[in-house]
Amino acid sequence: QTIGDCFDETVARFPERDALICRHQDLRYSWRSLREAVDRAARALMALGVTKGDRVGIWSPNCAEWAITQFATAKLGAILVNINPSYRTHELEYALRQSGTSTLVLQGTFKSSDYVATLAELVPELQDAESAATLHSERLPDLKRVICLDDARALPGMWRWSAMLQRAGEVSVERLAEIQASLDFDEPINIQYTSGTTGAPKGATLSHHNILNNGFFVARTMRLDETDRMVIPVPLYHCFGMVMGNLGCVTHGTAMIYPGDGFDPLATLEAVSEERATALYGVPTMFIAELEHPEFERFDLSSLRTGIMAGSICPIEVMRRVIERMNMQEVTICYGMTETSPVSFQTQTDAPLDKRVTTVGTIHPHLEVKLVSPDDGAAVPRGEPGELCTRGYSVMLGYWNNDEATAHAIDAAGWMHTGDLATMDDEGYVAIVGRIKDMIIRGGENIYPREIEDFLYTHPAISDVQIIGVPDEKYGEEIMAWVKLSEGEDLDEESLKAFCEGRIAHFKVPRYVKFVDEFPMTVTGKIQKFKMREEAVHELG
Ligand code: ATP
Ligand code: MG
Repeated sequence: QTIGDCFDETVARFPERDALICRHQDLRYSWRSLREAVDRAARALMALGVTKGDRVGIWSPNCAEWAITQFATAKLGAILVNINPSYRTHELEYALRQSGTSTLVLQGTFKSSDYVATLAELVPELQDAESAATLHSERLPDLKRVICLDDARALPGMWRWSAMLQRAGEVSVERLAEIQASLDFDEPINIQYTSGTTGAPKGATLSHHNILNNGFFVARTMRLDETDRMVIPVPLYHCFGMVMGNLGCVTHGTAMIYPGDGFDPLATLEAVSEERATALYGVPTMFIAELEHPEFERFDLSSLRTGIMAGSICPIEVMRRVIERMNMQEVTICYGMTETSPVSFQTQTDAPLDKRVTTVGTIHPHLEVKLVSPDDGAAVPRGEPGELCTRGYSVMLGYWNNDEATAHAIDAAGWMHTGDLATMDDEGYVAIVGRIKDMIIRGGENIYPREIEDFLYTHPAISDVQIIGVPDEKYGEEIMAWVKLSEGEDLDEESLKAFCEGRIAHFKVPRYVKFVDEFPMTVTGKIQKFKMREEAVHELG
């Protein structure tokens, strides 16, 4: 089944139920009215000349038009390119150029981001084009049309969203249905860029089959149905929002509720209580911000039942508080990566509590897992850390226009090599140890940064800590700690080392300590250790 067909089926089953509630825009759609908006946008895009296989970029914080564009492109077979709303000229140019985007839908402004002005720096032709239909960019020759969601901000060379929609009449409903029926679910429908935690972001090419099924199984694990209502405060440009969120809802008739354009703990809590939501998503830091909000007690969260915490290591204590204080008895943890649609592990709602808070659960339906030695590819014994490899329907078609990287990630037998180290117990529960690239080999000893980080987190003066390996003549690598102290705390290198002595093995005690105010971070909030290593090598000479 294609995404468009699944969408239409849900519309037919639950036409009058809530489909999409976009609170900051004060917009509410039933499945029937959402379909009207989606079909209209699809026909209008076709009228502008967008065809199957074209890349349509979307560069905007969460809004109703994001979802409308997602489903409209899926229906006409255009490949949606998700562009991170935090990108600036350099990253935007890379993504547009690398994907060969022909059509870009963008927001006007958001907080300090002026999307229109940023794009105009790359495409000055937008200022003095005679009309949106004659756009020709020297720097981005593939870019043929730009559609601005904010009519008032559109430049002469841009289509206004509303003006674009008026063109829908030029393409018949039958023509759209014909195109939709001709699509194959194995064809590419989406390019998603990885976070860029370990280098330049790579564009993962995904099919209907990849992401629609993944959304289905993620939602099924939470036992969602048409009576459920899900609050989605995570970004839609990321797989967490568009696959686990939007596609999870569409496959089960669940209502999608967007509390705001950027994450705001108060707006999220309000959305849950006022909309009587049953499910809530977030990365660990979002749940912490909600739990610690001064007005937390004011909200009635009794309607909540389930949801997902994912994206990075989920602290045990935070999981416990979410279950007890937010009434999310059935909250699940997911592990995944952009390249695998994304989810490959999810905790089951009925698993024992300790497994639900300390592991990422068991392998998802219709997928296979194995743990191998990163050195020789041999299977590792149970309980030992090995590289996590997954295989099955969720593995991407490949990296967009990068066969070399694809061949490196997916082997001849179809296994996706995740680059993450994990352990598995006898019952198949998997725990993530960390990334292989971050593992330290000191004097022949394998050292996992997470272990030292978890230990140092127990020091009351430390607010955040990251461990990296730096080159060393004698041992091959030495351990370096980057430490961020809590407000008003004071700690020096000597006392930090003294704290470690006798509590962790001597070879795990950091040789170098650096006190910092912040870490190099991706726009998705992940810490880039490769940049820390570069800086450290430079400083240590
Ligand atoms: P890049 O591939 O560009 O370096 P990235 O790997 O961070 O960036 P994503 O695809 O957004 O890009 O993230 C996937 C990675 O996030 C996984 O490979 C894993 O390292 C980490 N991750 C995801 N979920 C979890 C989780 N529940 N626990 C621990 N780590 C997680
Ligand atoms: Mg990655």
